[in-house]
Amino acid sequence: MTSPLCTDVLIVGGGIAGLWLNARLRSQGFSTLLVENASLGGGQSLKSQGIIHGGAKYALHGALSGASEAIADMPRRWREALAGTGELDLAGVRVLSDAHYLWSPGTLAGNLSSFLASKAVRSRVDQVKGADLPPALQHPKFKGKVYRLNELVLDVPSLIERLSLLAGDSLLAAQQIEALRGTASEPAEQSEQAEQSAQADPREPTELTKPAELLGLRLDGREVRAQRIVLSAGAGNAQLLADLGIRQPSMQRRPLHMVLVKGPGLKPLYAHCLGGGPKPRVTITSHPAADGQWVWYLGGDLAEAAGVARDERAQIRAAQHELAQLLPWIDLSTAHWATLRVDRAEPAQSSLGRPDNAFLAEQGRLLVGWPTKLALAPDFADRVLAALARDGIRPGPPSTRPELPRPPLGQPIWTSLLP
Ligand code: FAD
Repeated sequence: MTSPLCTDVLIVGGGIAGLWLNARLRSQGFSTLLVENASLGGGQSLKSQGIIHGGAKYALHGALSGASEAIADMPRRWREALAGTGELDLAGVRVLSDAHYLWSPGTLAGNLSSFLASKAVRSRVDQVKGADLPPALQHPKFKGKVYRLNELVLDVPSLIERLSLLAGDSLLAAQQIEALRGTASEPAEQSEQAEQSAQADPREPTELTKPAELLGLRLDGREVRAQRIVLSAGAGNAQLLADLGIRQPSMQRRPLHMVLVKGPGLKPLYAHCLGGGPKPRVTITSHPAADGQWVWYLGGDLAEAAGVARDERAQIRAAQHELAQLLPWIDLSTAHWATLRVDRAEPAQSSLGRPDNAFLAEQGRLLVGWPTKLALAPDFADRVLAALARDGIRPGPPSTRPELPRPPLGQPIWTSLLP
């Protein structure tokens, strides 16, 4: 039995939530270890559209909701980090677009009027015309209104790479993650033996009256004790909680069926296209492929319920129909198409609604949560830091790294899905 290693905070899951939190903790002097069982960013983060929402999309009902309020400060925080002057130094991360656009095609401007009626929204959007329109919309046949939102779009692969650099030597790859239980005052093995003998015949009284506490985790057999353990494993949180015998918080999955299209006729476009309802009809982001062409990644209503029900061929046909209607001047005759099914993992909400901000639940040394949006990773880290401060947890001695490999970086999805 090897003696346990100690760290201040042990993080499980290397998506945006875990990596951002890890970098923040390290910048404040905490010792950290982060364990990943697949690839860094390879869960939802590298499948996201990379939009740093400022909440405008959520105000389409004409009134700001809780989501808009919580998220409103995120573009500023990310911009400062990207400039190297914020809470993290993200200088060098590629910004794909300095703005995201809201685009109302044809005569649907009525839909925009209630949106723009909100003063808080008006202060965040500007109408753009002519040469200021996004390149893909600069065509004589284009009709509609376009507003510029104060929202960035990031190249998520370069973000994940930068955060993995800020992680130093704290990143660990391990497959088997088990609870390390004991009481803080006695060795973990001793209390586990007592717990096992009590489980063998639960009617027998045992001298051990205190329940065994979660002290750390065993990572592929290596024991790591921590002052706090944070589960930020996205969709993996549900299984991790089940393995730890913990029922709450429960998680919901919101399935999406996204579409990717790559072709020589595509120019960059970052926009929510409005339909008749409160949700964007389609949300388009553009991503550079290694051969210099652009990949359009299509989400929004197209990828939600009706899109989830379609098989891949029908979903591609639906996307082709949308683009032919909205942007008929774009030549997609030689384009390559693919779809991607992916679930958003979030804390369970009534009627599968969208959570308003990052979520964190606590139980003893264990903290578990979901940022609920890439943009809200700073909010997730704030919540963990607030919990540490409240409990008087301060940076301790540096941790020793267990002998485990470093996890690989996840790859952009279009490299595997498109030629
Ligand atoms: P993940 O990125 O899923 O990371 C979790 C990590 O934990 C993974 O690397 C996984 O391998 C690892 N893991 C799982 N189980 C274990 C285990 N047992 N042990 C160790 N490691 C484990 N948000 C935005 O703000 N803007 C957008 O434009 C946007 N677009 C989106 C588009 C799509 C199609 C989707 C699906 C989501 C989008 N989101 C967007 C939401 C955003 O992607 C997620 O909220 C965010 O990436 C979640 O980050 P995370 O770190 O919690 O999870």
